[in-house]
Amino acid sequence: MNADDLRSRQDIEIARQLMQSREVIRINEMIEKREEKGPMGTRRRLLATSVRMSRGMAPWLHNMTDECIESLAVDIPLELYVYASPSFNAACVKPEDGRLFIMFSSSLLEAFEGSELRFVLGHELGHYLYHHHDIPIGYLLNNQNRPDPRLALQLTTWSRYAEISADRAGAHCAKDPQGVARSLFKLASGLSGKLVDFNINEFMQQVDEMQIEDATPGQGSTPEDWFLTHPFSPLRVRALKLFDNSALVKSDGINIDELEAGVQVLMTMMEPSYLEGRTDTAESMRRLLFAGAVCVANANGNISEQEIAVFEKFFGERSFNDELNLDKLNADLPDRVQQTKALTTKAQRMQIIRDLCTVARADHNQSKSELDVIRHIAATLEVPGHFVSQAMSIPTELD
Ligand SMILES: [Zn+2]
Repeated sequence: MNADDLRSRQDIEIARQLMQSREVIRINEMIEKREEKGPMGTRRRLLATSVRMSRGMAPWLHNMTDECIESLAVDIPLELYVYASPSFNAACVKPEDGRLFIMFSSSLLEAFEGSELRFVLGHELGHYLYHHHDIPIGYLLNNQNRPDPRLALQLTTWSRYAEISADRAGAHCAKDPQGVARSLFKLASGLSGKLVDFNINEFMQQVDEMQIEDATPGQGSTPEDWFLTHPFSPLRVRALKLFDNSALVKSDGINIDELEAGVQVLMTMMEPSYLEGRTDTAESMRRLLFAGAVCVANANGNISEQEIAVFEKFFGERSFNDELNLDKLNADLPDRVQQTKALTTKAQRMQIIRDLCTVARADHNQSKSELDVIRHIAATLEVPGHFVSQAMSIPTELD
């Protein structure tokens, strides 16, 4: 199987839509202009803050990288870097001067071995192979101007599918499903595996506990904190399991349509699918996200006409006829919060808060008063305050 063909279809489709977005085109033009003036200084920064792992220093790592490059048929010169950090991390930086850079945290290099590390390497190379750097998500979400909330949410959704694609590239290099799962477990738990016996079934059980639909609305009947602690990692393992059982990996596997549909079902747990839903619950969630987003933006009393237009564009096309009146929205907010609380499960309420944080974070200048508004909505919805802190600090860059 050609590694090019492993890329998730949703990744391809959402990336295609994003590449046509006016904001993405504008930021990419800006970056291109800046690059014309000379390299962006990535390599210089890396050399100043990290250690370059030459072939002489770590021949085993270079041999492993060579194998991954061959598996994926990636054709670009590569430099490997390591930086001191106790948390397991790796990243692939957009090429500069025709050279690709992959960096690892020191702890990851020491705790990952064999197919675990091959998975990480393949994953990072996958980001390059699938052109993920074409969408400068960090720039877009850490921009001076508040981006369209739809764009912020779409970028976040896309980034998860991009990780799914990269994971497939990683699995393609590792050729060892157990090693891949162990690698994801290590990344999620921060444990080196020396103290804990890894049990893939227990790890996967976390996903089974993500039963949004089964809970009774209004009751806090599923208070499990799966949203709080790396909800994405067990989903990635599930998505990889589907992939392993698909025609992309073995000849008698499920067909690609089934695979992608299965992945989409998994990922809806992470998606703001209520934005399109026709049920009363979806509508109430949408109305709350709308009112919440506007009130957060106006927390300092300085929402601009332009920002109002952005919100109107995002939410106005949908099923409600709200007049965009700030005073009225502010006054209505407690009612909307209560109404939503009555109709939704705890997981759904967490979803709204998470999406509200995504929209709020997209505004470069978060203030205490903005955060207070979110915290207040969260408290009324009985979503814990530390969930807000966590949702506000999810990294915006792919890693
Ligand atoms: Zn990644």
